[in-house]
Amino acid sequence: MRHIPEETLEDLRTALEAEKAAVEEELAERGKATGSGTWDASSKLEGEEADPADAADQIEELVTNVPLVKELEERLRDINLALKKMSEGTYGRCEVSGEEIPLDRLDANPAARTCIKHAK
Ligand SMILES: [Zn+2]
Repeated sequence: MRHIPEETLEDLRTALEAEKAAVEEELAERGKATGSGTWDASSKLEGEEADPADAADQIEELVTNVPLVKELEERLRDINLALKKMSEGTYGRCEVSGEEIPLDRLDANPAARTCIKHAK
């Protein structure tokens, strides 16, 4: 990652850590950890006295939370991966081609795993 100045790398690390905290907070609110880094959607009403109206709300909340939790979980995985690469010194390289990911792309998304050409 010679193309990333030390100072910029620290900024990116700070951004990743801030986002990680935010994603984890949202995951804790909308889901519950099942261990091994995966999460299940949950609703705040879970475990409370079952009232038919609450049950309907609970289902509605779960319907919203399931795709969201999945998305947050994937985001958290990418963030953790980026942080791991930073500590290993392999950060900022495209996972497909191995070429350096341009800084402006990393600025926009510090957890980017590939260059734009190889992005899904
Ligand atoms: Zn690439």
